[in-house]
Amino acid sequence: MVQIVEPRHPVSLADYESVADLSATVRSLRQEAESRLAGFDGRRLVMVNSTAQGGGVAEMLPPLLTILRELGVDAHWLVIETQEQAFFRLTKNLHNLIHGAGDPNLGAPDHAVYDRVSAENAAAMEDFLQPGDVLVVHDPQPMGAGALLREKMDIAAIWRCHIGLDRETAETRAAWGFLDPYLKPYDHAVFTAPEYIPGVLAGRATIIHPAIDPLSHKNRHLQVHDLVGILANSALVKPWGPVMSPAYSEPARRLQADGDWAPATEPEDFGLLFRPIVTQISRWDRLKGFFPLMEGFVSLKHGIEARTDLDEHHLRALQLARLVLAGPDPASVDDDPEGKEVLSELCAAYSCLPPHLQADIAIVSLPMSSKENNALIVNALQCCSDIVVQNSIQEGFGLTVTEPMWKRAAVMGSSAVGIKQQIRPDLDGLLIKHPGDPGEIADGLDALLSDEAKRAALGRSARQRVHDNFLVFAQVKSWLELLTNTTAACWPNCD
Ligand code: UDP
Repeated sequence: MVQIVEPRHPVSLADYESVADLSATVRSLRQEAESRLAGFDGRRLVMVNSTAQGGGVAEMLPPLLTILRELGVDAHWLVIETQEQAFFRLTKNLHNLIHGAGDPNLGAPDHAVYDRVSAENAAAMEDFLQPGDVLVVHDPQPMGAGALLREKMDIAAIWRCHIGLDRETAETRAAWGFLDPYLKPYDHAVFTAPEYIPGVLAGRATIIHPAIDPLSHKNRHLQVHDLVGILANSALVKPWGPVMSPAYSEPARRLQADGDWAPATEPEDFGLLFRPIVTQISRWDRLKGFFPLMEGFVSLKHGIEARTDLDEHHLRALQLARLVLAGPDPASVDDDPEGKEVLSELCAAYSCLPPHLQADIAIVSLPMSSKENNALIVNALQCCSDIVVQNSIQEGFGLTVTEPMWKRAAVMGSSAVGIKQQIRPDLDGLLIKHPGDPGEIADGLDALLSDEAKRAALGRSARQRVHDNFLVFAQVKSWLELLTNTTAACWPNCD
């Protein structure tokens, strides 16, 4: 079975073009498209993945496909479907293996399931495809179907891999060994970072970075009243007077000293609008480095009284600084038992802190029932943070870095592969070498909290860096280039 999905994205190129600091970028994209599309020959672009909703790929495809269509590409979106749970168990394991985890014992029964479902999906997709199409296949689930179609039809095929690990392990070898026969027919592959390209694809792969949409609820500019309204509606600040719009049906909840969860304004307003705020927003995943970040913040606070090197401003910044650790409401992630475990360990560590440190740290659960409200809350939290941290032990790319960079926050990231793609150290943010070292984290926070001018300079450069490289327009440009190059290589005799 295959589903034809109509990409829905409410923003047009003209909307982007009407924003002052985006208009030149959109104009240059239109020009680039005009010259490149002559080489694309009116072909159809067909993208295929395994879900129409949920997950980064499904979120990224509507803006990408809508912009490509507006630029004149005949772009389509297919989603493969199957009832075979064994297939998705296998592809989930392949996903984990590519990240260096999972069960590396793959054998003939796994190939049998993968081949059977791939053949079914290929048959369903064949009805939709035409000779001359360029097929772009996302991640391992539809890879087998794409390979069969490339062998059978006069089409070009590109495999887009959104995952990766920067080193070879028994697990990654097992995954790439399994996928190798299905990769062979592809004309080209696309990865997020050069470190992720496996040996079997060397010379046949291009880098395209993930990107953010500057007019999405998560990244659009918020006027002061919008920002404060979102924080009040989600119970992240206590309003002093009447508020225009009603409170969200679910508030953000903060862990309390007794271990319960209450609206985040309890036991008192946290000071998001006035104090120096350090924030990390991520899934509750061990690899996101929440624990050493909390330890680093605690050790920074512990050391203040004994220090003799602090001027008045620096001392006040350290005394007032507060840390927000935010992530999705655990009730919304039933399929993520590890997330629940990590959050409860973090809560246990918090409960061991003395009351004055508990007052300086908020562990916050963000409501997930409305995607729009969640995105607005993330936006507002990032906007009112002086420092945004992403202390990941491992990070594929890290949109949680791109997003605050776009908002001119001073970002402190770990040196994980994805984060290094984005932050040039000391120019667009700080890079922590050892995300497991609370001392290094405390030093980084101390340096940033002491120097307002430095934070502002990092923020300015970060915004420019995202503007030039990690907005959806840069992604569209890279795709246009790759599509025309692939067309020229596959059909060299066509003009
Ligand atoms: N995010 C969110 N709500 C949360 C936690 C995270 O909307 O409570 C978003 C975050 O803003 C980002 C995405 O989830 O857009 C996470 O993407 P990233 O590439 O940083 O990491 P991943 O979760 O894919 O490992």
